[in-house]
Parts: sequence; structure tokens; C-alpha cells
Amino acid sequence: MSVSTIDIKVKKVEKSRINQLDPNNIQFGKLYSDHMLVADYEDGEWKQAEIVPFENLNLSPATTFMHYGQAIFEGVKAYRSPNGEISVFRPHDNWKRMNRSAERMAMPDVPEELFMEGIRKLVEIDSNWVPEQDGTALYIRPFMIAVDEFIGVRPAEKFKFIIITSPAGPYYSKPVSIYVQDQYVRAFPGGIGFTKAAGNYGMSMYPTMKIRQMGFDQILWTDGFEHKYVQEIGTMNVFFIIGDKAVTPDLNQDLILEGVTRDSVITLLREKGITVEERPISIDEIEAAYKAGELKEAFGTGTAASIAPIAKLTYHDDQMALPPVEQWEVTNWLMKTLADIRYGRSTDTHGWRFKV
Ligand SMILES: *Cc1c(COP(=O)(O)O)cnc(C)c1O
Repeated sequence: MSVSTIDIKVKKVEKSRINQLDPNNIQFGKLYSDHMLVADYEDGEWKQAEIVPFENLNLSPATTFMHYGQAIFEGVKAYRSPNGEISVFRPHDNWKRMNRSAERMAMPDVPEELFMEGIRKLVEIDSNWVPEQDGTALYIRPFMIAVDEFIGVRPAEKFKFIIITSPAGPYYSKPVSIYVQDQYVRAFPGGIGFTKAAGNYGMSMYPTMKIRQMGFDQILWTDGFEHKYVQEIGTMNVFFIIGDKAVTPDLNQDLILEGVTRDSVITLLREKGITVEERPISIDEIEAAYKAGELKEAFGTGTAASIAPIAKLTYHDDQMALPPVEQWEVTNWLMKTLADIRYGRSTDTHGWRFKV
């Protein structure tokens, strides 16, 4: 089956809910578009996929993912260009990543055509939900859950793959204040840190709540042995501009989620002639660079926030305050360059835009 030949049945809503959307006040995750895609996996294969009106699921309380967390997801965005054209940013990379998560969580592969054509057709049908104001997008959430009605512990045999979408407003880009975490851990060798598994998020709620109570925005996670090597900030990949180089943690050891934004940023930086080092980075190195005046910029990357500048890092009693973001050359250039590609305001030389 090729991407275009997969047959997805469509049952449209009788009446659209689009009038509930206030284009000038889009709140992320509050409102979902008219339709969703649902596909069931049973007897070792994916059955007919359908696009149906967005509605509640009817599931047994014994459904396995509710108890044992066999659940994974992806996050993708569709952007509207000035000429009205809609394109999804690098969904093929999300498809590959979803299947890396699926393998680690003993879940079936999602076929390429189901993922790609599922997104394309769903966004096409709900295209009037893709907002047009600058900084807005349609957030696309593909996910898979294990749905055996069985509370015995074993890998499930029945699964649901679902895609829902939700309009997303401009992400407020107030620079974030970061707490360097040296007690709780996000990822460790042999674990699931490299996957987009639901459990990675569940475990982060408590430590995040704690640091919010202390007045911080996000955690900079460190390794579980020495709490020395940095991993990610919250649910974003992290970059530091030290001197004239960019450094970001490498993907070895399955600790780091391989972000599509991370890869885009690395690609753009290298094309601009900036050296990017993917390697272990210790908090000691960051502190030393800060004290030497070499820590110029720092930011997180992810589909939701795109690029989130870091205002301040707090490590024990040490506070590392970065210069005002307006002065950051690299980050400001990246934000603009990436946005121009996503919104179709510049030429797509990398083949990153998937037209709907
Ligand atoms: C989703 C995610 C990211 C960002 O990935 P993108 O593909 O850039 O959206 C980074 N870290 C974690 C832990 C994530 O779950």
C-alpha cells in the first residue's frame, strides 16, 4: 500500500463546532477539532481506519493501558502559509519515532501509510480548524493505547491508534527559569527516556509540581548516577551556546528523546557554519562557562514551544542569569528561520513541509 492508496473511511459530523473557536483567544488543548481518526489492531493486524466525529471512547474499566501504562504518543503541528496552503512539519520523522516507542513498549508498528495519510486526510477534512494568526498552528496528537480487557500483567494483543487535533495559540515566549534537578530522575540507561511513553510524563508531574511551588518553570534533568550530566529541560531538548559553539546532549544510552525540533535546529546551525557538539555536558562545565562569561545563550526545543529561551539556571545556591534575550544572536536567528520554514515564508530546501 502506498501513502495515497490507503482507504480511510470517513463519517462526517452533522454540524461543525468551529463557531466555538475564538481565533483571538486560542487556549491550547481546550477545544478539539470536529473529527478524529481511529484504527483498531486485533488478531495481529490493523483493521480498517476510520475518520469519525470527535467523541468519547467506550472502554472497559479493565482496559490494560489504564493499569499498566502501555501508552505512547506523538506531537506534530500543521501550519497555514500566507497563501492559505497548509503543511505539516516533518510528520515522517514522528512516524519513525512512534515506532521506536512502540517497539520498546511491546506495541505493534503503525504502518507508514496509516500514520501519514491519516494525518493528511484528517487535517484536510478539518482544515478550517488550522488557525491563521502568526504563531498559531493545529496541534496533532497521534497516540496508541493497549486495550485488552484484562488486568493480568502481560503485553496486550489489542490496540487502538487514534489521532486527535486541537488549535494551538502562539506560545508565550517569556524566558524560563530553570531548576537543576539533583534528586529525581527522568531517564536512565536501559529505561524509556528515548520514547514518548505516557509514563515518562506521569513520573515528571510530582518533581515539576515541587519546583513550581518554589517559583521555577522547568526542571533541567540530570543523570541518575552522579546528578552531573544534563539531559533535557522539562519535556524539551536543551541547547547551550558556549563561546561560539552550540552543545547539546548526545543520543547515546537511550536517555534523550530524539526531538524533531532538536534535529531541525542542529541542521540549521550547521548550515550556518556554527559548530554543534552532541556530547555529554556536565553541570560543572556549564557553571565554569558561565563564570568565564562564555555561556552566551541557552534554550529548550520542542514542537509545543518551538524554541524556549532560558533566563536563569539555579543549581544549589548558584544562580546563573543569562543576558537579556534581545541580545541573543543565535537563538533569535533560529526562531525566525524555523518559523519562516514552518509557515511557508521561505523555501523548503530540506523537504520538511508535508503538504495537506
Ligand atoms: C516530545 C519531546 C521533546 C521534543 O520533541 P519534538 O519532536 O521536537 O517535539 C523533547 N523531549 C521530550 C521528553 C519529549 O517528550
